[in-house]
Amino acid sequence: MALEWTITIVGRNEFGDTCRKEIRVDKSWERLFDGDIGLSIDDGKTIMAALQSAVVSHEAETYSLFRRVCPDCHTLRSVKDYTTRKVRTVFGAVKVRNPRWMLCEKCYPGMVAAFAPLKEICPDRATPELMELTARLGSMMPYRQAAKVLAEFLPIEPTETHATVRKRTIKIGERLDDQIASEEQHARSQTDERRQMEMQLPGDRRKEFVVSIDTAHVRSVDRNSARNFELVVARCGRGGRGEPGGRYFTTGSTNQTALRDRALHALQQEGYCGFGDVTVISDGAEILKRLPRAMPEPTAHIIDWFHIAMKIQPMQQIVNHIVRSQSSPFEALPTIDRDIRAVKWRLWHGRIDRAIHDLERIVAGLQQAQGEGEFSIARLYSLGWQLLTYIRSNRGALVNYGKRYRSGLRVATTLAESAVNSLVGKRMVKKQQMRWSIHGAHMLMQVRTADLNGELRDRLRAHFRQPEPNVPPLFKPKPPLLRAA
Ligand SMILES: [Zn+2]
Repeated sequence: MALEWTITIVGRNEFGDTCRKEIRVDKSWERLFDGDIGLSIDDGKTIMAALQSAVVSHEAETYSLFRRVCPDCHTLRSVKDYTTRKVRTVFGAVKVRNPRWMLCEKCYPGMVAAFAPLKEICPDRATPELMELTARLGSMMPYRQAAKVLAEFLPIEPTETHATVRKRTIKIGERLDDQIASEEQHARSQTDERRQMEMQLPGDRRKEFVVSIDTAHVRSVDRNSARNFELVVARCGRGGRGEPGGRYFTTGSTNQTALRDRALHALQQEGYCGFGDVTVISDGAEILKRLPRAMPEPTAHIIDWFHIAMKIQPMQQIVNHIVRSQSSPFEALPTIDRDIRAVKWRLWHGRIDRAIHDLERIVAGLQQAQGEGEFSIARLYSLGWQLLTYIRSNRGALVNYGKRYRSGLRVATTLAESAVNSLVGKRMVKKQQMRWSIHGAHMLMQVRTADLNGELRDRLRAHFRQPEPNVPPLFKPKPPLLRAA
């Protein structure tokens, strides 16, 4: 026994052409006993591919015909030639007739040129939807896996492999990057103007804008250069702790201007107009220090509190152990526990000079006690020295964290760190065997960032938006024209 279904679709265009297509789905009785009730994904693929083929062909034909009419004299342009063109869509690739029309001989005498109308509506040979979907998946998972996922659910041609996914992802990334670069220019000129205004309006303070910034190390594909390169990942937002984190930005270019332009662009989307306080919070990495130096005044740079705390924590652990075991170093350093806690307290409250002074004393004491030959002392000395160096070299970026905290302001780069995880982490860092080019990584991150900022679709739509071609005003085809067509 067989169960047969027929789907009929009918298309009609303004020229009065109709197109009719029947799609048959055979469902054998036996399939029911295999549990195959209803349509399967494969049936769906077959049906959608057939429907798509009918719709795309009809639309392509109609559009070509519509573009054959000269907008000036409303006669039909002559044919240069016909080739075929493949239009790739989420529901399969469709081969369509691809005519090229000559420019109108009457309206453009002496000009011999032709154009392909389909290029106007499908410049990529893949639809924007397919491009976007491919790029989005490609930015979230390995290219090979993305290609498999696409083919799992959609009637995608077998020729569309991980290489296709990579190519489309990078291409979309480049588009987003270009778009942002041109917006950056605008952002820059606006802040230049506002900077002058700000001088005339002293005391006009807005709420703080915070840029939390961090780096991610990515393995380099270029075996001749350094093993790793860094991606800068940031989140820019307004306001303090507990408020939404704001926009993401990511860049593989770590020069000062590039960082500033990306940051200004992201801040502007958050309402920054070139005045108001900007605070950059980082772990003090040299690359990241470039940003606050390049931002409009007033911009403050703060060292992430947790980086300081994390440097003190292992010291405290060692000291706790010494105190608990009452081992011999304890006799040499009876106040070490209290001293280290005091350093932390002073740092939290922004008493940097005192903290440095105390720490110098602790380190000197540890150096002397090292003679005891205790491993824990040597370790403590080395940690103390590292902390001292870190604090000295970031002295200008240490603030009264306690005060900021009590006023509800941010003191840590937790936002940036979680951004590194959600943007770069799974895709690039944890898969250690994967290697990247800076260009590829940067472009992929543009896709990922736009997606996370919730604007991928809008940005791509804005790019694909074609100017509507010059249409004859009376183009509601009239009977004589229809006959001519
Ligand atoms: Zn003409």
